[in-house]
Amino acid sequence: MMAHDESGKAANPSKLVIRNIGLLLSGDIDRPILDADTVVAVAGRIEAVGKEKDTDTSHATTTIDAKGTVLAPGLIDSHVHPVCGDWTPRQNQVGWIDSCLHGGVTTMISAGEVHTPGRPKDIIGLKAMAITAQRTFQGFRPGGVKIYAGAPVIEHGMGEDDFKELAAAGVKILGEVGLGSVKDGKTAKQMVAWARKYGIQSTIHTGGPSIPGSSLIDKDMVLETDADVVGHINGGHTALPDDQIVALCERSSRALEIVHNGNERAALLTMRTAKELKRLSRLILGTDSPAGSGVQPLGIIRVISMLSSLGEIPAEIAICFATGNTARMRNLECGLIAPGREASFVLMDKAQHSAGKTLLDSVQKGDLPGIGMVVIDGVVSALRSRNTPPATKVPEVMAG
Ligand SMILES: [Zn+2]
Repeated sequence: MMAHDESGKAANPSKLVIRNIGLLLSGDIDRPILDADTVVAVAGRIEAVGKEKDTDTSHATTTIDAKGTVLAPGLIDSHVHPVCGDWTPRQNQVGWIDSCLHGGVTTMISAGEVHTPGRPKDIIGLKAMAITAQRTFQGFRPGGVKIYAGAPVIEHGMGEDDFKELAAAGVKILGEVGLGSVKDGKTAKQMVAWARKYGIQSTIHTGGPSIPGSSLIDKDMVLETDADVVGHINGGHTALPDDQIVALCERSSRALEIVHNGNERAALLTMRTAKELKRLSRLILGTDSPAGSGVQPLGIIRVISMLSSLGEIPAEIAICFATGNTARMRNLECGLIAPGREASFVLMDKAQHSAGKTLLDSVQKGDLPGIGMVVIDGVVSALRSRNTPPATKVPEVMAG
């Protein structure tokens, strides 16, 4: 069989079948639970989702018995600060991205490679660094994690042509507005608009300074700049006053990003306000790691559990914040369990000895899920997580 598969590779691409799924979480906040037990992926894309008897599971190159565990889209970390491969100088750690894979994260989005030692702030230098970061992370995926990087921080003196040039070179995101020399709404608004014109998405630092040298960005600057993502609306770590957070939820039409490296009370305020305003579909999650508080390999599931338990929101909805919501706000092809989407999944179960009756119940009680397997683009990237509490049941890779 192997020989046949190898020889027919081009015409007969890899086929992954995951069967015996106990609960299928879609990532879609309008329909977070699907009535299905089987996912079929061909060449790294989801081909079918349904009941096993209704799907074509024949000629699989890899079959996974989910053993009744929960399958969700791979988690997306909307806010990281990568620098070089799997090393971060911020806390001088190696292997931090691979550690996050073991927290269920399959996709990361850079909010700027700002921890780069000696980061250039002149225009040609910052453009060169952004293009380099975009290329290096496209070419190297620690643990298989997809990292969208190459996020220049805007500086005074940049003109429309600079954004045009960056876009033509493959840059698709800006680093956090406010971390560079541009700290006034008028200039930031102009540059964000130029970026948007050429298809570059933007995010803005929100709240007090993160570390010595960074500065306060208040609600007026966030609203005037109108970046695509209200970055760490709960502060990174210092949050804005409550009335300003409420005003951002009410008046910004952009993504509202909650991070692990932020104020937890402000995170709950944001979620409750967004819920009242029926704007939960705009909530997205990040860690902001590496940060002064370190690298948080379980940061995304910790925020999910915190929002679900303390904010009393169903766990399947909180998981959408880090999957389908982020994918929609960030124009990514992952984050949903639906045909055509990237076949990136996290398989999990309630942690051993959790007081929760099921995985969802355990998260609603404040526990972390036990991760049993992570799949990226149809390829098994991690088996039982080395970082989460052990899952009660774990999926198994069967013979092809
Ligand atoms: Zn920030």
